[in-house]
Amino acid sequence: MELRASKVSRRSVLKQAAAISAGTAAALVGGDAQAAGEPQAPAIPTGTQAGRKFRAFVVRTNPPGTTIQGSNAAVEQLTLKKLDDDRVVVRTEAAQVCYTITGQSVGNYPMPRALGHGAVGIVEAVGAKVQRVRVGDRVIAVATPACGQCYTCLRGRPDRCQFLNIGFQPYATLEDGTDVIQHDNTCGFSELMVPLEWACVPVPSTHLSAVELAMLADVCCCGLGTVFGVAPVEPASDVAVLGCGPVGLSAIQGARIKGASQIIAIDPIEVRRELALRLGATIALDPNVEGMNLVEKVRSLCEFPNDRRLAGGRDTTLTRNDAGPDYVIEAVGGESFPPKAEAGPDPTGLLPLQQAWELCSAAGHLTTVSAGQRGNFTVPAARWSNGAKNHHSGNMTGTNALRDIPRFVRLADSGRFNVKALATSTFPLDHAKDALQIVADRLTIAAVLVFNA
Ligand SMILES: [Zn+2]
Ligand SMILES: [Zn+2]
Repeated sequence: MELRASKVSRRSVLKQAAAISAGTAAALVGGDAQAAGEPQAPAIPTGTQAGRKFRAFVVRTNPPGTTIQGSNAAVEQLTLKKLDDDRVVVRTEAAQVCYTITGQSVGNYPMPRALGHGAVGIVEAVGAKVQRVRVGDRVIAVATPACGQCYTCLRGRPDRCQFLNIGFQPYATLEDGTDVIQHDNTCGFSELMVPLEWACVPVPSTHLSAVELAMLADVCCCGLGTVFGVAPVEPASDVAVLGCGPVGLSAIQGARIKGASQIIAIDPIEVRRELALRLGATIALDPNVEGMNLVEKVRSLCEFPNDRRLAGGRDTTLTRNDAGPDYVIEAVGGESFPPKAEAGPDPTGLLPLQQAWELCSAAGHLTTVSAGQRGNFTVPAARWSNGAKNHHSGNMTGTNALRDIPRFVRLADSGRFNVKALATSTFPLDHAKDALQIVADRLTIAAVLVFNA
């Protein structure tokens, strides 16, 4: 059964934001200096914030085979540590529940960690060196920070910024004094987040709810990045999308926005195929029905209108390897748990990767953004070496959060990107395990944790 999102009212968001900026934050700053238009955010002195009490969903060590409900992960009382120079204290409004987190919720972590892949919230304090955001700002704390200055940021892959996997110092302590770190340096399943400045993007003026904005912190950015990022989809092209979860459905909408002529959605779950068709797919295929003929079926749908080689056409009579979509986007991944909805043909996630690679035509583009595969797969070495397939590997395929989140918000604001259709269920923090379970069962498109609703 599909659950519908219960939208957080704009009034409650504004009320909360006003209370924070006019009350707590102003008291901490000692005045509303930002309102006077100062160019630099007034800093909360480093070393403040220590001792604040809040709650977070914390996971510790779990043996292999642990279920989500059986995991020792739980909502616990935490005490905040002092604020560092380059970090920001954000009061969380809503946090999305990405499928990857389901596996992490039963993980085995030597140091307890608060889970999450980013969220939206209100800035309550900024470290002495922070420049991007001010106290009172509404920000999306993204799953992938972008400093704009490191090796990968400067080479067009800010989604692999070198601040992505560093700086995991404890941000809080448990009641027994044990240190707790934030998963991916940002978390989200936590009433307070303390991300690096590089993970914070101020949200432009919008009527979108916190639930909708939270979706942009990770999964929607990832999906839209497959068509706006390093392999931008061109108008009138053929696009095949394997996997119609929130990432794939964002990619499908992005392809529609970019003006693709044909968008082929591939997913084993019927309600996801139906939603894909409502959101812009022109045809939806069930990989369980197509079986090993999936590749040939998609190729047959992508016959180029002109087969004259000397007139810009594509003649595939000699080799079918030249046939296929202009863009192939893979967003399936490995299963962490058996689904309760229709299962795909390969729980390891390897077959969809292999089919996606096979599907990519000569001069075509293959973008892969999934995770959680188990094992390896083989491809013909000669074609891998000489097949002229352009493969773009995730993480968010070049999404630059500072540049792209404002325009993704605009696309959602204007209704062209339907984010509400993807945020299909909401839960309070105390029901984080239920949110993870419904996502693991594939019985919702995306779940979102809502704070103080
Ligand atoms: Zn994620
Ligand atoms: Zn960087």
